[in-house]
Amino acid sequence: MIRVGQGIDVHAFEESRPLILGGVRIADSGGLAGHSDADAVLHAITDALLGAAGAGDIGHYFPSDDPKWKGADSSRFVREAKRIIDEMDADIANIDVTIIAQKPKLAAHVAAMRARIAALLDLSPGRVNVKATTTDHLGFVGRGEGICAMAIVALTTDTGASPVEGAL
Ligand code: MG
Repeated sequence: MIRVGQGIDVHAFEESRPLILGGVRIADSGGLAGHSDADAVLHAITDALLGAAGAGDIGHYFPSDDPKWKGADSSRFVREAKRIIDEMDADIANIDVTIIAQKPKLAAHVAAMRARIAALLDLSPGRVNVKATTTDHLGFVGRGEGICAMAIVALTTDTGASPVEGAL
């Protein structure tokens, strides 16, 4: 049985913060605004994992008005989604991520992001793909106002059951 999930996240730029994407510190400034470390890539992956599990969304587990998650390392969110997937006895077949950003150039960081995401999920890097693209200067991304990240995940599972079956 295969279950798929998708996640999408957008954060605006906040110049004074470090830029952290895919668990990798890309730059010491030119980062993203947000309650946590604003890692839009890890947020999209968390939502894709939770979606595949049929287990709700990131805001349900980590509300952005909870002071507990202020400045939080988003790898904690990914690890929690992984725990839920382990609990349902599912395996992650693969993850594919697209980062949509006009700036900065991300190609040089893709391999590090891929390795970091794989390590967070106890996967071989071959199961994780990270792509970066621009919008050719169109829209909010093209104007350099923020970054969008999208993720899709496939899980394999014997029964196909969600851990929250009957709970929603
Ligand atoms: Mg977010």
